[in-house]
Amino acid sequence: MVKDSKFYDILGVSPDATDAQLKTAYKKGALKHHPDKNAHNPEAENKFKEISQAYECLADPQKRQLYDQYGEEGLEQGGMGAGGMNAEDLFSQFFGGGGMGGMGGFGGMFGGGGMREQGPKKARTIHHVHKVSLEDIYRGKVSKLALQKSIICPKCEGRGGKEGAVKTCAGCQGQGMKTMMRQMGPMIQRFQTVCPDCNGEGETVREKDKCKQCNAKKTIIERKVLHVHVDRGVQSGTKLDFRGEGDQMPGVQPGDVQFEIEQKPHERFQRKGDDLFYHAEVDLLTALAGGALYIEHLDERWLTVDIMPGEVIAPGEIKVIRGQGMPSYRHHDFGNMYVRFDVKFPESITGPNGEDGYPTSMTEQQIKALESVLAPRKPQTIPPPDAMTEDYSLEKVDPAAEGQRATKVDDEDDEMGGGERVQCASQ
Ligand SMILES: [Zn+2]
Ligand SMILES: [Zn+2]
Repeated sequence: MVKDSKFYDILGVSPDATDAQLKTAYKKGALKHHPDKNAHNPEAENKFKEISQAYECLADPQKRQLYDQYGEEGLEQGGMGAGGMNAEDLFSQFFGGGGMGGMGGFGGMFGGGGMREQGPKKARTIHHVHKVSLEDIYRGKVSKLALQKSIICPKCEGRGGKEGAVKTCAGCQGQGMKTMMRQMGPMIQRFQTVCPDCNGEGETVREKDKCKQCNAKKTIIERKVLHVHVDRGVQSGTKLDFRGEGDQMPGVQPGDVQFEIEQKPHERFQRKGDDLFYHAEVDLLTALAGGALYIEHLDERWLTVDIMPGEVIAPGEIKVIRGQGMPSYRHHDFGNMYVRFDVKFPESITGPNGEDGYPTSMTEQQIKALESVLAPRKPQTIPPPDAMTEDYSLEKVDPAAEGQRATKVDDEDDEMGGGERVQCASQ
């Protein structure tokens, strides 16, 4: 059972359709709904895109398996999103470049521009994003990743049947497509259609001569485990290539497999290049009078960091622990660990009626003690003796409500200023 049959429904096939049936259904649908044949018909254009997207997914054994198991969601989570290829590109891979006018032979599925490329044909590259924890990048590891790929059927060696039993289709000379003529009143219309003799395969084989192992598909799906070396200090975005480990198809070079290393976000550290960034919270006493800070590293070690008495850590201050960052890729040195300090001040207490600082979070005794050890209050500009003075106390600000209002007022002031300047200039 498949989770979602939408892609199969779009192509008009059943979920157990063979690759050949999918191919035929795609060709028929794509020819019928191609925008060149349906000018000013957005419905046909959408249908053309849908068909292309559905076929692109189902023609890839890995994607098809993901789709069957998990539906479209599975494709997205597997990082293989459906519809990566432009519908028109896919179409020209099948029917040759130049849209509907220049339909050549049938080229099969090739990656990145396929038919127009020079040199030997190559099967498409399988891309996979390999997510790795920061711990694994710190220590380095070998990931064993299993992949499903097409290999040349070992029983028939990619012929699809007994030796000599697979014949080039006489109806289309192996092209898979035929040009047909149709009388439409006084006009004779020429059009391309999928060869009915071979269902677009370009080859025919008698039922009894078909290879039993691959059912004349020439390839079978094999599970292969690749050992991906996640080297110490490797950067996110590094691509690791396995040449020739991708899909095999008769008559073309095997494709490649490419893994892209993606570092997962870490709960304690942020990484920039070879450096690590750590956020430490210390209380006011530690910041002023010293103490210890413990940082759990990426390899089971804990760093004990001494803050010297009287060193004085200012809020937002950044300090560095040299050599405790990430190992640098393919070298034997280390980046640094930068520690940004948040100094936690004593909390203010809200009184029973919402008033701030009452009863105070610090006792009178404590304040006296502070006054005896800290530098005296900085002298302020005192109003002249004959000035009018008014007494005020501070209230807490709710940043959500009042912060925004304050900004708004500022903006208006700016606009008024600007308007005045314009007026002055025009006078
Ligand atoms: Zn076979
Ligand atoms: Zn044919």
